[in-house]
Amino acid sequence: MLVGVPKEIKNQESRVGLTPASVRELALRGHQVLVQRHAGAAIGLSDEMYGAAGATIVATAQEIFERADMIVKVKEPQAQECAMLRPDQILYTYLHLAPDPEQTKALIASGAVCIAYETITGPGGGLPLLAPMSEVAGRMSIQAGAAHLEKSKGGMGLLLGGVPGVAPGHVAIIGAGVVGTNALQMAIGLGARVTILDKNVDRLRQIDLVFGNRVQTMYSTAHTIEEAVLDADLVIGGVLVPGAAAPKLVTRAMVAAMKAGAVVVDVAIDQGGCFETSRATTHEAPTFVVDDVVHYCVANMPGAVARTSTFALNNATIGHAVALADKGWAKAMAANPHLKNGLNVCRGKVTYEAVAHALGHDY
Ligand code: NAD
Repeated sequence: MLVGVPKEIKNQESRVGLTPASVRELALRGHQVLVQRHAGAAIGLSDEMYGAAGATIVATAQEIFERADMIVKVKEPQAQECAMLRPDQILYTYLHLAPDPEQTKALIASGAVCIAYETITGPGGGLPLLAPMSEVAGRMSIQAGAAHLEKSKGGMGLLLGGVPGVAPGHVAIIGAGVVGTNALQMAIGLGARVTILDKNVDRLRQIDLVFGNRVQTMYSTAHTIEEAVLDADLVIGGVLVPGAAAPKLVTRAMVAAMKAGAVVVDVAIDQGGCFETSRATTHEAPTFVVDDVVHYCVANMPGAVARTSTFALNNATIGHAVALADKGWAKAMAANPHLKNGLNVCRGKVTYEAVAHALGHDY
C-alpha cells in the first residue's frame, strides 16, 4: 500500500502521524511511505531520518493526498485537507466528529474511509489510542502545577517536595483514571503529600495496592472534595463521565475558600472542566486567576510536549496502521472488531452511532 504522511497544518500542532521507526515498520513489510518535507522537523525528526527509514520525501501535501492509498495524521483534517481527500482513500487520525458538523459534512462528501483514533477500542476495554494522551497530560499536570506554584508564575511560592525540615505541599487529585494515576506517580515522585479521589472504589483499591500509604485514597463526594481541596496547594481535575460534559465538582465557593496562591490544573477542560471557575486556555496564555487561585486550563496539553506525544501516539497507532496497510481496511476490520469501532465515516455515510446521533445523520 502507498501510505502518506502530510505535515500537520492545525495552528500550533508539531506532532506528526508517523515517526521514522513507524515508517520503517511499514517499509519492512513492503509498503511505500511518502512523507511531506519537514513533517517532523519541529520535533527533531529530520527528512534524513525519514529517508533512512525508507520514506520518500515529497514537497507538498497535495502530492501526498493525490497519490496515497492511506493518509496517516494526528489532528482532524482541516478544510483544505478534507477537500483533497479522494473516494475510498483511508484517513487514519483523530477526528472528534460529534461536536464538528462541518468536518463531518466534508468527510461524507469526500467518499473516503475515515477511521478515528479516539473511538478504536481495546481488548481490555477502554480507548487505547486516547490513553497515551491522557498519560502525557496527567504527568504534565504536576509539572505545570509545580511551576505555577512558584511566585513568579502567580503561585504562593511553594516547592512541592519541601526540603528537609519543611513539610511538602499537598496535591489533591480528583479522578483516579489514566490522567489521575499518572499525575499521582509524578506527585509522589516529587515528594508531595497526595490525596486522590474517585467514585470507583475498585480504582481506589488498585491504587492502594500499588502505592500503599504513600497516598491517601478517598471516595469522592461533595464533602470529601471540599475537605481535600481546601487543604490542598495544588488540585488536579482528571474526571471523566464518558459521553458527557465533566461534572462541576469544585464549586466557585470552594475555590474562593482555597489558600491564596494555590494552583488548579483542570485537565478535564476538554470536556468543559470540573471546576466551576474554569475556562479553556492556550499554551500562549495558559493561566488566569480567580479569587487568588491560579487556574491552568490548557485544552491540548500534549501539544506542549509534541515530541514525547508523537512517540507515545505512534506506539498505540502503528499496529493498526500495519494491519490496514497489509490487509486493506475491509479485511483488517473484519479481522478486528476493535479497529472497526474506529470507522466513523465510510464512503459517504456516517458509520459511528454516537456521531450520527449527535449530528442527526442516518445510521
Ligand atoms: P478515565 O476514564 O481514565 O478516568 C476518569 C476517572 O474519573 C474515572 O476513574 C472515573 O471513575 C472518575 N470519575 C467520574 N466521576 C467522578 C467523580 N464525581 N468524582 C471523582 N472521580 C470521578 O479518563 P482519563 O483518560 O483520565 O481522562 C480524564 C479527562 O482528561 C478527560 O476529560 C480527558 O478528555 C481529559 N484529557 C485532557 C487533556 C488535555 O490536554 N487537557 C489531555 C488528555 C485527556
